[in-house]
Amino acid sequence: MRDKFNGEVVKGVIFDLDGTLIKSPLNFKKIKEKIQCPSEESILEYINSLKEEKRRKALRVLISSEVNAARDSKLYPGVKEVMNYLKKRKIKIAIVTRNSRKAVDIVLNKHRLSFDALITREDASPKPSAKPLIVASELLGINRKNLISVGDYKYDLIASRKAGIKSILVTYEGNQEYQNLADWRVSSLREIIKILTPAPG
Ligand SMILES: [Mg+2]
Repeated sequence: MRDKFNGEVVKGVIFDLDGTLIKSPLNFKKIKEKIQCPSEESILEYINSLKEEKRRKALRVLISSEVNAARDSKLYPGVKEVMNYLKKRKIKIAIVTRNSRKAVDIVLNKHRLSFDALITREDASPKPSAKPLIVASELLGINRKNLISVGDYKYDLIASRKAGIKSILVTYEGNQEYQNLADWRVSSLREIIKILTPAPG
């Protein structure tokens, strides 16, 4: 893995939310049980496959869990520091998440965070689709080669790769499972500053 973001200038950073910027007590296993989603299936894709009435019900269960988790969420160490660094360097920031707009608004209010673009699952078909990252690039007005994405899950990395955006895997728990899908791996958010800071000269 390289040390720096060489070749192109970083003009924007796209962050995943849950597990990347915030630690949220969202319990996917419990939600899956409640809505009878098979454990190996992804929740959103499962819900989308349901018929209307069942689909609406499952979505309500999911959103209410997301809202509760958002209220109890905690920022990971280094988030504010990284945001200040990016602001100082005039690097734009976006959130691309599979979470709902309702939960994301709660998180941003609670932790006093603001972003130049915010793409939730209501805005574009969610990751691992490249679509929300492409939308982020358009909303930020930044070419994809000048963007970098940060996430904790394979969907973040797969979506980034499909969109032609370089990615950083953040693994707070030391999970290295997906690192072959990422351009860099860090074990704390602060480390991305080192990647984004241009080499002198
Ligand atoms: Mg995540």
